Amino acid sequence: MTDRREKLLEEIGNRRDELIALTQDLVRMPTLNPPGVGYREICDYLAHRLSKRHFDFEFVRAHDTPGDSEKYPRWNVVARREGAKPGECVHFNSHIDVVEVGHGWTTDPFGGELIDGKIYGRGTCDMKGGLAASIIAAEVFVDLFPEFAGAVEISGTADEETGGFGGVAYLAEQGFFTPERVQHVIIPEPLNKDRICLGHRGVFWAEIETHGHIAHGSMPFLGDCAVRHMGAVVAEMERSLFPALAARTTEMPVVPEGAKQSTMNINSFHGGLPEPEEGFTGFPAAIVPDSARMIIDRRYLIEEKPEEVRGEIVALLERLKAERPKFSYTFNDMWQVAPTMTDRNSPVVTRVAKGISEVMGKEPDYVVSPGTYDQKHIDRIGRMHNCIAYGPGILDLAHQPDEYVGVEDMLGSARVMGLVLIDLLADGAKGQ
Ligand SMILES: [Zn+2]
Repeated sequence: MTDRREKLLEEIGNRRDELIALTQDLVRMPTLNPPGVGYREICDYLAHRLSKRHFDFEFVRAHDTPGDSEKYPRWNVVARREGAKPGECVHFNSHIDVVEVGHGWTTDPFGGELIDGKIYGRGTCDMKGGLAASIIAAEVFVDLFPEFAGAVEISGTADEETGGFGGVAYLAEQGFFTPERVQHVIIPEPLNKDRICLGHRGVFWAEIETHGHIAHGSMPFLGDCAVRHMGAVVAEMERSLFPALAARTTEMPVVPEGAKQSTMNINSFHGGLPEPEEGFTGFPAAIVPDSARMIIDRRYLIEEKPEEVRGEIVALLERLKAERPKFSYTFNDMWQVAPTMTDRNSPVVTRVAKGISEVMGKEPDYVVSPGTYDQKHIDRIGRMHNCIAYGPGILDLAHQPDEYVGVEDMLGSARVMGLVLIDLLADGAKGQ
């Protein structure tokens, strides 16, 4: 190992207390989403901190995106530090929102308590610990190697937990993630400090509605029950669709193991009268339902084509229409995201892998996420494909009570991120 690599690893270790304090500060800002509170305060904090290292920053409000309002504005911050000469840009993107607290905590969810080398609180693991690690890595790098080429960017973005439309999607639409501006993106989501997440499966959400004819419940033969038609849809899914999905496997290294196949969740199912309000003590009216609705959440593999994923469900409904008297339906597409997987030979992947083997003395595991995260917007809207998720924290702890992040894990991944900056910006990615 060269001197400067050793120097960087040592200096990150020296900043242990600073890393703890930074993580605690971030956790003590309760940026709960929904509804999406405190975004501006945390963006101000990040900008203030990074401006001391001569980062320029921009505050970007995602006007008119879902959830944005005067009361709950969707603020994002993008900070950029230019090097001494032209080169490539490495961008660390972290979401600043956290999910609701829920029950079962034995620590203060916004206290940021340090107990036995772990910092506790909502968002410690997902993903303020990752954000803090990337900040320490970038600060140490620019302090030690101010002559570097290219640029380092750090963004704090809104709304990842609710789809990222007021966050990374909006920034991508504004040109912040074009391949001309940014060449490498690392999202420090909690994937464990020795795993590189290359991408995610595809998603297809749709609503199916079956139609019937309203009548008095005592004479159902005068009507046509939409719930029975929907029952036939479920039966046909059980008979043909679910077994077909379970039989499809992927070459993508998806974790956990069960997600290596194609899956579909029936997200919701409603038919007939709406659920009565709580406290209502009356009886339901005798009615044959004329509408039933189902929302499906289909997760698909890189080997499957988006149009086939949709076509397979439409074909199932068409089969029922041909076989079942009076069956009619409508099908509404809700949203779709294609699967994505970054090339293992791309510079950001090979440099992070090298960093992991240097810092942890082992080869990394390569994984693909069963669900999506903000990489989808960088990939699809930004057209920037050199993107991975890599960060400290244990994935299973995300969204749980007594969520925590280990200080040693944060230091380990900060060291890897720092080495990646040396490789891509100080030594020059192209020279190797
Ligand atoms: Zn997250």
